[in-house]
Amino acid sequence: MTRSANLGFPRIGLNRELKKALEFYWKGESDATALHATAAQLRARHWSLQREARIEVIPSNDFSLYDHVLDTSVLVGAIPPRFADIADPDTRYFAMARGTDAAPAMEMTKWFDTNYHFIVPELYRGQRFALNAGKPLDHFREARALGLVTRPVILGPVSFLSLAKAKDDGLDPLDLLDALLPVYAELLAQLRAEGADWVQIDEPVLVLDLSGKQQAALEKAYAALGKAGPDILLTTYFGDLRDNTELAARLPVAGLHIDLVRAPDQLDAVLAALPADKTLSVGVVDGRNIWRTDLDAAFGLVSRVWDHIGPDRLEIAPSCSLLHSPVDLQAETALDDELKSWLAFARQKLDEVSALAIAQKRGRGAARAAFEASAAAIATHRASPRIHRPEVKARAAQAITLDRNSSFASRREKQRARFNLPAYPTTTIGSFPQTKDVRQARAAFKKGQLDQAGYDAFLEQQTESAIRIQEELGLDVLVHGEFERNDMVEYFGEQLDGFAFTRNGWVQSYGSRCVKPPVIYGDVSRPAPMTVRWSAFAASLTDRHMKGMLTGPVTILQWSFVRVDQPRAETCRQIGLAIRDEVLDLEQAGIGIIQIDEPALREGLPLRRADWDAYLRWAVDCFRLSASGVADDTQIHTHMCYAEFNDIMPAIAAMDADVISIETSRSDMELLEAFRDFNYPNEIGPGVWDIHAPRVPDQADMEALLHKAGQGIAPGQLWVNPDCGLKTRGWPEVKASLQNLVAAAKALRLAAAG
Ligand SMILES: [Zn+2]
Repeated sequence: MTRSANLGFPRIGLNRELKKALEFYWKGESDATALHATAAQLRARHWSLQREARIEVIPSNDFSLYDHVLDTSVLVGAIPPRFADIADPDTRYFAMARGTDAAPAMEMTKWFDTNYHFIVPELYRGQRFALNAGKPLDHFREARALGLVTRPVILGPVSFLSLAKAKDDGLDPLDLLDALLPVYAELLAQLRAEGADWVQIDEPVLVLDLSGKQQAALEKAYAALGKAGPDILLTTYFGDLRDNTELAARLPVAGLHIDLVRAPDQLDAVLAALPADKTLSVGVVDGRNIWRTDLDAAFGLVSRVWDHIGPDRLEIAPSCSLLHSPVDLQAETALDDELKSWLAFARQKLDEVSALAIAQKRGRGAARAAFEASAAAIATHRASPRIHRPEVKARAAQAITLDRNSSFASRREKQRARFNLPAYPTTTIGSFPQTKDVRQARAAFKKGQLDQAGYDAFLEQQTESAIRIQEELGLDVLVHGEFERNDMVEYFGEQLDGFAFTRNGWVQSYGSRCVKPPVIYGDVSRPAPMTVRWSAFAASLTDRHMKGMLTGPVTILQWSFVRVDQPRAETCRQIGLAIRDEVLDLEQAGIGIIQIDEPALREGLPLRRADWDAYLRWAVDCFRLSASGVADDTQIHTHMCYAEFNDIMPAIAAMDADVISIETSRSDMELLEAFRDFNYPNEIGPGVWDIHAPRVPDQADMEALLHKAGQGIAPGQLWVNPDCGLKTRGWPEVKASLQNLVAAAKALRLAAAG
């Protein structure tokens, strides 16, 4: 019979109980027993929610105290040597995730194209693996004690090795497959012995461009594991199998899961390739966005599969783990009913999966209420004037030139004449310390304990003080400090039409850190200027140049839940137009230097190389749209961080920002090589202060970095600035570091003059 299934549930808890328990434990305010008790309560609650939603296949081992990839490193005994001496397993686990004084944390990076971050496995030459199956076995037993036979979730060996980093030169983690497979086989045998009939093995690498070696590794792994224990559901998500379809279909496992939300078009090819005895799990409910499912459309898709393979081999599921979705829409008391009717969080998504399975088994009438509610919501959504605003669409459809009026060379002359900056001009990336005072004042204002006038007076005083500090330090281009901003996306979203904000729509970003992305639900426009008041106020206090600070359209898009009823490019263009209006208002207010941050530009890259160009084209166009309206002597800056630039240099150059600041100090200027090799024509501020490291950099260190940057980048192209914004730092280190930074710039000027 057709079965309803889930692939993973959010771990953090409706009220972020896990976050709080972790942070208490880390501070030493609670012990491991209390932490594990909270974790067990959360698992029990989540299993029971899934059972209430009538999900028939419920996962276990999807829970993690920090990260499921870190759990996999522990599971297979891949403990980096610097942590091997820590005897207590909890202490060691969190040391691997967060580091200790003696041992730096393992690296963290983004999980495919989500905003979830995983701990990168570290592998060494001669790496030995050993099974440490405690967690999956314990969680399986824990669920069984509650009356549930769960389907354990395991990250597959080929994805694990593909995501790992070799810590020895010349080592390819995939070469360790032979050593790793016996550990997996043993795990499967133990799960089988415990009573698991099925396991879910995630191999998300199957949606990537695979090397021949990876393909061979998949063949080998599943030849070994396919018959070793319980039936395997091989799980893929976040994209289409494309050229890996044949491979995924023929691997000797019992079932295959495909993502039909991200990639509905792959269905025919998968059905054609699927062997006649294999279960197909279809992901038809979006596991990583917040929109309600069109149940009629999803039912149509499911029915096509049913026609093809019959009812017995069919599973209905979310597209991927619900890890990337907030927990429960019912907790949203501040959203209006209409908007709420368009949304579904994890609990509601399970109800959708369940309704589809019931309709498949017993006819649509058996899930009539769910289908009717879905159809009604989809109909109001389609027609709503809150979503579709003809004037916004009409404006976005107009052709607007994306080019500045003149070439960079000619703009540069006019900007030099206007600003008369010294060589190696100094600036910062925008934000200054968000001290306890700043956070307390904002909280008091939000609670109504501080009125608008009182809050504004506080912000004015903070801004003025930041300007005096910058003047005393001798910085050339000042910023207002962004004390009025909580977050670089939320601050803008709150002032734009088409955005909504949840109270509790938290999604895990990494460990205990959660984010609450804005919801872009409708056509985006800017009803009024957003930043001009603070930039103009700041400029009025000083004779020095003041830089206006904006978040770019791609970053606002990337860090929000985005509507799916129109292409992302279209939504991004609307945001680009709103930012363009803001840029022009800043210019009008006399702000001659305007920075449009795009730290998330690279994050938006599609998983497949073949799709990169199309994305980069519209992403760069949206940035250019936001920036291209200004006069030649208005200087546009942009800022990017945490990015490799080598493979997207033409796109970065095409943005045509007059100045780009980038994070480079941690890589010892290596990231600058791409700009040098490309002969990047515009100006560059390679960060000379790693603001994430808690130390004040010496003047000599920064001079050395600038000398290094100067090998290949002309002195006239270079700016001097920190790596990133300073909101997480404290004032004493900010002052000391910036003093050294200004001194380093002056020393270079002197040397150049002499
Ligand atoms: Zn940054």
